[in-house]
Amino acid sequence: APVDLGATEGFGSPQRLFALAFRDISELRNIDRMRSDFVANASHELRTPLASLRGFIETLQGPAKGDVKAHDRFLGIMLEQANRMSRLVDDLLSLSRLELKAHIAPDQTVDLVPVINHVRDALLPLAQELGVDVKLHLPEAKAEVLGDRDELVQVFENLIENACKYGQEGKQVDVYVRAEPASAVEVSVVDYGPGIPAEHVPRITERFYRVSVADSRSKKGTGLGLAIVKHILTRHRARLIVKSELGKGTDFTVRF
Ligand code: ADP
Repeated sequence: APVDLGATEGFGSPQRLFALAFRDISELRNIDRMRSDFVANASHELRTPLASLRGFIETLQGPAKGDVKAHDRFLGIMLEQANRMSRLVDDLLSLSRLELKAHIAPDQTVDLVPVINHVRDALLPLAQELGVDVKLHLPEAKAEVLGDRDELVQVFENLIENACKYGQEGKQVDVYVRAEPASAVEVSVVDYGPGIPAEHVPRITERFYRVSVADSRSKKGTGLGLAIVKHILTRHRARLIVKSELGKGTDFTVRF
């Protein structure tokens, strides 16, 4: 069954903060705990690549000193770790910027057709590297929504990148943009990969939540992508609906 992940409101909205003032103190404690969990998780995620960098530096200074072959290999891994830390910091900054403007409704008129074309072009190198064909199914007319173009680019970059990374085995990703007059504008990103086990689906938009530990080593990612998607969509009053079937694939639909 489809799971709608778009129903909750961001923490930062004035309505929410106002309502909170009248709530049980235990809820405030909850939010406090979530914040410190977040800081602990973020620190842990940064510490892992940092520890690995330190290990390699020590090895290069000591046991592997003068070993040119080892140098090349270790420097490659160190660059990977540094890139991982950069991605993490970028994602953390995105999230904190989004929290700051959670209560401001975006107000540009954005046509999703060029947005999706742009995202497909930007992801072409990754798709080619993974051997995935991203097919677009676009309407004749415009698909206009009220929004923030850069943020919407970020949403579809994340969803299409995930479909390529995790749905890789299917070798194809379909992106449908639907804009019937008198009904909601919708974008669906569909892959034919292994799918997401039902018990994980409600949690995948949580910060740092990753379904498989093996994936977090083999597939590049921070576990923050869908948290960012959810923040942006909440601000856009849009919903994220996930349908996933094990062994068949996954459909992430954004409904404006
Ligand atoms: P990241 O990709 O950086 O790990 P995300 O927040 O984008 O983080 O995704 C969280 C997790 O949800 C991923 O680690 C993956 O386990 C799962 N996931 C996301 N998209 C898909 C998909 N299309 N198919 C299968 N699993 C997915």
